[in-house]
Amino acid sequence: MTPPRAQALVDVAAVTANVALLRDRAGAAGVLAVVKADGYGHGLLPCARAAVAGGAGWLGTALLEEALALRAAGLTGPRVLAWLLDPGDPFAAAVRADVDLSASAPWAVRAAADAARETGRPARLHLKVDSGLGRAGCPPADWAELVGTALAAAADGLVEVVGLWSHLAYADAPRHPTTDRQLDAFRAAVEVAERAGVRPEVRHLANSAATLTRPDTHFDLVRPGLAVYGLSPIPDEATPAELGLRPAMTLAARLALVKRVPAGHGVSYLHRYTTARETTLGLVPLGYADGIPRAATNGGPVLAAGRRRTVAGTVCMDQFVVDLGDDPAAEGDEVVLFGPGDRGEPTAEDWARAVGTISYEIVTRVGPRVPRVVVGA
Ligand SMILES: *Cc1c(COP(=O)(O)O)cnc(C)c1O
Repeated sequence: MTPPRAQALVDVAAVTANVALLRDRAGAAGVLAVVKADGYGHGLLPCARAAVAGGAGWLGTALLEEALALRAAGLTGPRVLAWLLDPGDPFAAAVRADVDLSASAPWAVRAAADAARETGRPARLHLKVDSGLGRAGCPPADWAELVGTALAAAADGLVEVVGLWSHLAYADAPRHPTTDRQLDAFRAAVEVAERAGVRPEVRHLANSAATLTRPDTHFDLVRPGLAVYGLSPIPDEATPAELGLRPAMTLAARLALVKRVPAGHGVSYLHRYTTARETTLGLVPLGYADGIPRAATNGGPVLAAGRRRTVAGTVCMDQFVVDLGDDPAAEGDEVVLFGPGDRGEPTAEDWARAVGTISYEIVTRVGPRVPRVVVGA
């Protein structure tokens, strides 16, 4: 078989091991593995199955369509929660597929109740409070009203309030005082709901960073995403290896062209790189249409012809160039953009630092033109 132009190898055994570690770190709490955005770019279904194999009893997605895709693929064992809903979403399909739904406002409770009437079975709701992130979630001032709306629908047999939850703003800065304030706000919201009569199955707050650094945020369920894929949510404090995690994705390509050029040769659009001496250039067939940040121009790290090198010149739509010096190289040789790092290749975190972003963005932006090849299943 001809090796592909480029591929993202996804080591699902690493996903399974990462979830097993997170489960251990979660103590008595359960694990909801977040598989939104196509499993952080790694592939929804293989990663979801690997996470369940590692002990995740729950899967979480942002979009309802992602949650429905899990059920349609036969993942019926784990509980599934979708949290980024809008009034146009197919709530009835969610109820039929046994997908738990988040509600940050009374309209979502009403949509869930309508879906329950339509399907003849109650909707399972997780009421979300904005404990301070200022994104989704019900403002504390409106929380009692949301709880009341949900309890009224529950009394009619239309919904079950199974979860109370919130999301942290500063979990990646473990000692930040905002986390303490959010914990207080969350506990207060739970108390309001429980005093009103809610008996939740699960209260949940922690993402990857909080799962690993703040046991006081664990409650009944933790919601790690990034760490499931083996990347560090606290890169300034700990590498994946130091956290016991294994990066699951290796992004690699094959050199499409290798050629000698003289000194002083401009390279790629606008000649942002010029050869210092006679040298060998290698053409890497990945570009910004594949998710390679254009900001990696003259900055993105790669392992090519046995050494770490930097992208030479402008990253184009489909390709970029590396300067291989006098090292031997041939068309078809592998170039590794990032991986776990143990073959000397850069990591997704190295790319994040090189272009001024976070590793989340590096892995999720790998485009659909790059095949995901599952290994370790
Ligand atoms: C994405 C997301 C998570 C997972 O966050 P990580 O930092 O990747 O662990 C958890 N909860 C919610 C609500 C999210 O949107």
